[in-house]
Amino acid sequence: MNPKVTYFSMEIALDPRMPTYSGGLGILAGDTIRAAADLRVDMAAVTLLHRQGYFAQRLDERGRQSESPTEWTPSDLLQKIPERVTVTIEGRTVHLAAWRFDVQGQRGGVVPVYLLDADLPENSEWDRTLTHHLYGGDEYYRLCQEVVLGIGGVRLLRELGYNAIHRFHLNEGHAALLTLELLDEAARAAGRDSFTREDVDTVHDQCVFTTHTPVPAGHDKFPLDVVERVLQRGELREMADIFCHEGQVNMTNLALRLSDYVNGVAKKHAEVSRLMFADYTIDSITNGVHVRTWTSDPFATLFDRHIPGWREDSFSLRSAYGISNREIWEAHQAAKARLIEHVNERLATKLKPDVFTLGFARRATAYKRADLLLHDIERLKAITASVGPLQVVFAGKAHPHDHNGKELIKKIFEVREALKGHVEVVYLPDYDWQLGALLTAGVDVWLNTPLPPMEASGTSGMKAALNGVPSLSILDGWWIEGCIEGRTGWAIAPGEVDDQDRTEADAAALYDKLEKAVMPLFYDNRKGFIDVMRQSIALNGSFFNTHRMVLQYISKAYLP
Ligand SMILES: *Cc1c(COP(=O)(O)O)cnc(C)c1O
Repeated sequence: MNPKVTYFSMEIALDPRMPTYSGGLGILAGDTIRAAADLRVDMAAVTLLHRQGYFAQRLDERGRQSESPTEWTPSDLLQKIPERVTVTIEGRTVHLAAWRFDVQGQRGGVVPVYLLDADLPENSEWDRTLTHHLYGGDEYYRLCQEVVLGIGGVRLLRELGYNAIHRFHLNEGHAALLTLELLDEAARAAGRDSFTREDVDTVHDQCVFTTHTPVPAGHDKFPLDVVERVLQRGELREMADIFCHEGQVNMTNLALRLSDYVNGVAKKHAEVSRLMFADYTIDSITNGVHVRTWTSDPFATLFDRHIPGWREDSFSLRSAYGISNREIWEAHQAAKARLIEHVNERLATKLKPDVFTLGFARRATAYKRADLLLHDIERLKAITASVGPLQVVFAGKAHPHDHNGKELIKKIFEVREALKGHVEVVYLPDYDWQLGALLTAGVDVWLNTPLPPMEASGTSGMKAALNGVPSLSILDGWWIEGCIEGRTGWAIAPGEVDDQDRTEADAAALYDKLEKAVMPLFYDNRKGFIDVMRQSIALNGSFFNTHRMVLQYISKAYLP
């Protein structure tokens, strides 16, 4: 095997038992690789082992978050390979081992994933921790991790004999330092000791970059002197036009500068990225989800009956148009019952299967605005009094350093008290892959309320669509493409808004849609509601998946 495409990502969700991801980026990476395996793409992937994972979340009775490491045993799930490589950090030699995980496709395809591991007795105590924590530590720690991923990753692939790679896909800027290793390779191939500007063109032809962050503050960057200290390379300053941006090494700029093909993850996100980086051509490939992974058992059984071959061919979900109301409703009731049993058992709550249920689960961070639905509790009470009962299931972790995100969780706990007896609100701790699957399939409508244009794409609404769960969402990210009003779900779309503070207008639009369209359809026109469910599967499930997405990467980015 000599893969032609390699995929680099700081996080990859490979198995629900492996805490090697934190959220959307890692899930997307995993879904990309699973689709590539189904499509038998000649690919290998590289990431870090993350021996202590992201973190396990605990919430006390007031919603205060505490974090603990998620220990796991790599040897239970991975195979250690004999190859070793080294990288140099501040002049120290850091030894790297690697583990292998084979992602199996539906028709015999396999994508090997290599997880780099610095926890070796040869390394200093501190260096041994370099592949322990995902997004942990300080700036310096993160930079060292990026050296391991980018430079260590390329060296490992070469050590494995992968010498016919023609595309290095950088999933987000964390892997951008791989360009430095490729520049060195190009120089060596030309018989030089160090790289020059000529080598930049050679490397440029090899790299593909996907950016995921629509705000400048979200881009990974390090002070030049810190990078110089870690890498000890004079070229960074000598070729500052390539490596530096505003006095810093900005991984996004570096990846943009050295990639032949660059894309954002939804049409709107590519537009926003083009405004941020006017010097570059930025295309768009809208994200997707891996259908087989995110379809709940009740819907999988239903699809087996009506859409033979749906696991191999995600496009065939358009045939969901032929499935009867009764069968769709029964499958949904089964998925909903599972969620409700899980919640009631875990939290000793009394959620009811016949009550309209909204779901909201995502990273607890300010721009995702988990509290928008709870903005005006009197209005919410009035809606349930006039249209029918409502229950809401929340979940999501705040990054340990995200103070505002933690405050958001506490706020939801407070409002929950104020709504007691009117609206049942629950917050499930420790949001992860399995909970994500349970929630996106088990609620009646998936709620999404980011502050535009902050949501690059979002993917959880796509998981919901596969399971006949329509979205009620702000028009941002993928939903601008996915929303057909009243057919695949509903837009939260206030008319004129003040960009400084649109909370009021967005909340009012959300309540109006809930009161006048979504809940009346659910309670008074079940047939109409099931039509929306069916169209979510047929129109959105068949398109917003990683089979379509990977085929677009092949034709736009991977083919030479
Ligand atoms: C799908 C998923 C995400 C990404 O969801 P968004 O819609 O991008 O917020 C994050 N975390 C988990 C556990 C998921 O399953």
